[in-house]
Amino acid sequence: MRTHYDLVIIGGGMVGASLVCALLPVAKQLDLKIALIEQQPMPTQPGQPFQPSYDARSTALSYGVKSFYQATGMWDRLQAHLTPIEHIHVSDKGRFGVTRLHAKDEGVSALGYVVENHWLGQVLLDHIQQDTQGCVDLLCPASVDSVKPSAEKSELQVTYQDKQHAITAELVVLADGGRSGLRQALNIHFNVQSYHQHALVANVSLDRPHQGIAYERFTERGPMALLPGETLQGEVRCGLVWTLPDDHIGELLSLTDQAFLEELQQTFGYRAGRFTRVGERYHYPLKLSLAEEQVRSGLVVLGNAAHALHPIAGQGYNLALRGVTDLAENIMASRQQVFC
Ligand SMILES: Cc1cc2nc3c(=O)[nH]c(=O)nc-3n(C[C@H](O)[C@H](O)[C@H](O)COP(=O)(O)OP(=O)(O)OC[C@H]3O[C@@H](n4cnc5c(N)ncnc54)[C@H](O)[C@@H]3O)c2cc1C
Repeated sequence: MRTHYDLVIIGGGMVGASLVCALLPVAKQLDLKIALIEQQPMPTQPGQPFQPSYDARSTALSYGVKSFYQATGMWDRLQAHLTPIEHIHVSDKGRFGVTRLHAKDEGVSALGYVVENHWLGQVLLDHIQQDTQGCVDLLCPASVDSVKPSAEKSELQVTYQDKQHAITAELVVLADGGRSGLRQALNIHFNVQSYHQHALVANVSLDRPHQGIAYERFTERGPMALLPGETLQGEVRCGLVWTLPDDHIGELLSLTDQAFLEELQQTFGYRAGRFTRVGERYHYPLKLSLAEEQVRSGLVVLGNAAHALHPIAGQGYNLALRGVTDLAENIMASRQQVFC
């Protein structure tokens, strides 16, 4: 651990880790010293074999982000557990019309990809830990207790290995998620609008192959999405995101698995086949949120700490990656000026 870094990233979630990976290819050449600080312990040791689990949460990656993973050298590995979305089927319950999109018609190999969050996290963190250039310190578990941003040198208090450390940085990136306590401590005003909906998230099995089809179905109670997932031990698995008004979520959570599958079948219909199993059901309150201030001298706010939106479009991480790419380009450009 150093006492001064060019860049300190607070939060090693998908967004903070992606920013490190975006900078790794040029970090040595630009002599960048980076710290990634994450308060949760590492889920796995680097290089460990991946253990898919039936209940893992998934993220839909847009087709465009493939170029990010290619440029950062992670695509080949990531592909091992990606499910391509080859078709998209959009329908409105009780109404006649449907929209169908096909990768072939659009001249692309896939319309997007579905990835388990665990796998994406493992690929990102392994990539960082395999950095042999000595440019990145991954401080984990460690937590940032306070930040004092400044145009000169930002100051941070960090708890790491049961000790308090004072470090400084040229730039601090706040990627500590939607419930960022540091954002609040910095008096960054945050607009939050409730959708008055919850997302019920679970993996479900079908009695037939999903054929790479992602479904989006609008219903009276709210939209639902069914994402094609990786087949596990011969069992077809899809990721369900079912959005419901706040006062309906309790009822669906309290149903037995069998009763839940019947309710799901009735609402979704039979176009994907018969639902045969449901895994653990998770739920999240849905909010549209936006930090009013996302850039301050010595500080950038990124990812869910900066903005969050309804998950039905599957865009939260995809949009954050645009911020990651832009910020990485800015850091590289300003660093190159120093060397000129
Ligand atoms: C139901 C649902 C479905 C979704 N589906 C999709 C989808 O299909 N496609 C898509 O693009 N997006 C999707 N999203 C959005 C996506 O999950 C988020 O945009 C993304 O996870 C945000 O990542 P993040 O790194 O900004 O935040 P987080 O994942 O919250 O990471 C923040 C990290 O910071 C750490 N941290 C916090 N405080 C500190 C501290 N003081 N010191 C050190 N570390 C700290 C935390 O431990 C955490 O690891 C979905 C969201 C939901 C709720």
